[in-house]
Amino acid sequence: MPTGRSEFVYELQVCRWAELAWPPDGGTPAFLVARQLGTKRRRWDTVVVETDPEGLAARRRFGDRELDSDLLHIVRHAPAEWAFYRDALPDPGYPWRYVREAIHRADDRGIVDTRRDGNKIEIRRIAPYPDWVDRLIAIENKPDLDASAARQLADQLTHDVDAGLADEVWMATERTEDRVEPALLESLPVEAGILTTEFEAGVDAASAAVEWYPTRLSTAGTDADSDGDRHSRRLELAERAFGRGWRNYGRTMRPDCRFFELHRDGRALLPWCAAKGRHQSSMVCGSSCDDFQPEPPAWRTRGWPIEGGPGKGITQLLADRADRTNRPGRE
Ligand code: SF4
Repeated sequence: MPTGRSEFVYELQVCRWAELAWPPDGGTPAFLVARQLGTKRRRWDTVVVETDPEGLAARRRFGDRELDSDLLHIVRHAPAEWAFYRDALPDPGYPWRYVREAIHRADDRGIVDTRRDGNKIEIRRIAPYPDWVDRLIAIENKPDLDASAARQLADQLTHDVDAGLADEVWMATERTEDRVEPALLESLPVEAGILTTEFEAGVDAASAAVEWYPTRLSTAGTDADSDGDRHSRRLELAERAFGRGWRNYGRTMRPDCRFFELHRDGRALLPWCAAKGRHQSSMVCGSSCDDFQPEPPAWRTRGWPIEGGPGKGITQLLADRADRTNRPGRE
């Protein structure tokens, strides 16, 4: 990996490559790319959600923000005709007062219709919540694959294969002179795919190659309950991918710092710290950074303080890129 590039930057490069080149074996389904999503037990570096244009358009009727599990419970079960919410929705398995709160949130966001009948709240769906997720792909990024990283990765991928939450799991690693050491790959489950990357000249669609195709993970043998649970968890992950994408790092870094820049790297834009003279990781670019200096007021966007604010220009640029590229599939 070139000096000064962290695993975080590698992750952004893999996300951008996926956005340009997914799926690696051709075909052009619509898809979304997101990063750092997962469950309590497991967090994936890069997630690709494959869908289709109609499904994505149907999902967008529910707005651009993600739906959490409480909101999903409502929009997936809201009836076509007005009904008392307790009659319409399945027992959530937690107190109904939380459902009532979620109904108010859903109403505020315009994703369910509500009205009162005496002291009863009735609900009606605005549209059927679509079955918009085709496949979930998890990619684990390990730029420097040494023996200990390979062992750790093998455990994680084995868990992914066993859990069957993703349809495919992949490992991405930096291409070396020897390609990838076969001995390192021996311990990885054969179901996991392997991508080797070459980002020296910047990110483009040809920056990664498939070394090993994954096996589509099977859920055969799961019972109806666990299958329903798995379906719900997949939807929650897909919703997070839909709402967050992979360019949301501005929320945890300091784009309001005078040294925060975005540098072009092929077809990617990557965070760059002018004080440190390198691509900074999300770990160092935070409130504890000793080099932080606030962006001078003169740099702030027109409209400040009404519309602008520190770092608003970079934050807006990342949001615009996410809208243009992450939603429909390709630039
Ligand atoms: S100086 Fe620190 S806070 Fe500012 S951009 Fe660089 S790493 Fe981030």
